[in-house]
This record gives sequence, structure tokens and C-alpha cells, in this order.
Amino acid sequence: MNIAKDSVVQFHYTLTEGDAELESTIGADPMAYLHGHGNIIAGLEQAMAGKGAGDSFSVTIEPADAYGERKEDLTQRIPLKHMQGAKKWRPGMTAWVQTDQGQRQVTVIKVGKFNADCDLNHPLAGKTLTFAVEIVAVREATAEEKAHGHAHGVGGHHHH
Ligand code: ZN
Repeated sequence: MNIAKDSVVQFHYTLTEGDAELESTIGADPMAYLHGHGNIIAGLEQAMAGKGAGDSFSVTIEPADAYGERKEDLTQRIPLKHMQGAKKWRPGMTAWVQTDQGQRQVTVIKVGKFNADCDLNHPLAGKTLTFAVEIVAVREATAEEKAHGHAHGVGGHHHH
């Protein structure tokens, strides 16, 4: 079947920016998502539509259809005790912080004794990203997945 609304898609990807490889699922579990629910960035979801298992393609996505443009002055002083992901922080590291809108990734700019100045832009904001994609499997979502708005099982959510 071809990818359409309410398809659950398993895929491998390698993400690059210019010549730099940023992330890859090759050698690990593929990623899974529920198509048509905004679970992945808009540019990648659009490129997936109509493809099927076994298809490979590459797509380059501008920031507006990826993680958005970088905003200047989006810095905040955050208590170290609220930052998750490492015991000792250095500039350039990525931390997870709990906010009113859920968990978000921030980038450490400067570390003090009790607080760190962090950049709240998504680490991939402002970047033009290229995804090399290999579609592993496509299936119809279960009623439960449709109700939850995300994929379950390998590469999907594991919250049950
Ligand atoms: Zn669920």
C-alpha cells in the first residue's frame, strides 16, 4: 500500500546538513510515525505521501518546513537542577527541560554555579536539512493508534 492519511510508516533515515551527518537510524530500529498527524516535520511528511515499502529517496527541506527559523535573543537562565541529560554541563551541549508545553531541547550557552544560560531554539532550527529515506514497511493504523494520533510498536510510542 502507498502512504496516505492514517498509514503507519516505518523508515530508516540519515539526516545531513551540507556534508555533515547529524543523525541516522541505520543499524538501529527504524523510526515509525502515523502519517497525516504532524508527527514528523512538514517537509518530510509531504515527501512521504504516495511512497511505498522498499522505496528510497532523498529530500532537502528548508527551515520553514523543518524546525523553523532561528530566533535571536531566545535565551533563558535555567536552574541546573531542571536540566536533564548530563551531570556536568558545558557550552554547546543539548539539555532536556520540562516546560508548560512539555519537554523541549535547549542548547547550553554558558554554565554558572546554579544556573545555565540556554538557547531555546530547537538545535536544528534555521538549518536546511537533507533526509535520505528508506521506507521499510507501510500498514494501516489500528483504531487505537488513530485515537492517540501516533504510531505504536517498534520505533513508535511505548507508553502503554
Ligand atoms: Zn498511544
